[in-house]
Amino acid sequence: MKRISKESIKEAIEALRHGGVVVFPTETSYGLSADATNARAVARVARLKGRPSEKTFPLIVSSTAMADRYAHLRCLGHRLAKKFWPGPLTLVVEARKNVGLARGIVARDGTVALRVSSNETARALARGLGRPIVSTSANRAGEPPAYDALDVTLKADFILDDGRLPRRKPSTIVHVVQGKIEVLRQGSVDPKA
Ligand code: AMP
Ligand code: MG
Repeated sequence: MKRISKESIKEAIEALRHGGVVVFPTETSYGLSADATNARAVARVARLKGRPSEKTFPLIVSSTAMADRYAHLRCLGHRLAKKFWPGPLTLVVEARKNVGLARGIVARDGTVALRVSSNETARALARGLGRPIVSTSANRAGEPPAYDALDVTLKADFILDDGRLPRRKPSTIVHVVQGKIEVLRQGSVDPKA
């Protein structure tokens, strides 16, 4: 791991603020980020990835408080958040309405996928922007995730290069609606442990 400077994080936040797309390190792989409230930026992420538009993007938030501003975590979601955040557990919960989330973020069933990342740089981006960031793996759809900034071939506006990251599975994704947990993708953590 290299050390990412405060200045480069500031530059990345400025890029996000202006609708830019930023490659950044997470606790799993390199991610591709954009302001989750900027529809054009989110559409660019979809285009860069070559992702079918019916699939929505997960978000990284800086805190549970920020998650609460955009989604209804309810009792079970808060319990999971307390236990696993910051960390690679993505919660799929009911999105709040009219909070400015862009098209491509809220799924047809009204849910949004989000987590507080345990990667400090990832959290700093959401905190600095003051809003959730899209966080999708920085690879073209169907290709494996990148663990080295050098392996990211997508044309982003800004890259926060943290060198080689440890190879980790993607985040575990759980659907938490109506008091029940359903594992949609088994990843780095076991939510039932
Ligand atoms: P990726 O974007 O490749 O990093 O993977 C994120 C995964 O989260 C994808 O498989 C998405 O389909 C999934 N996802 C994102 N939002 C939701 C949601 N609201 N409900 C269920 N799955 C979601
Ligand atoms: Mg992926």
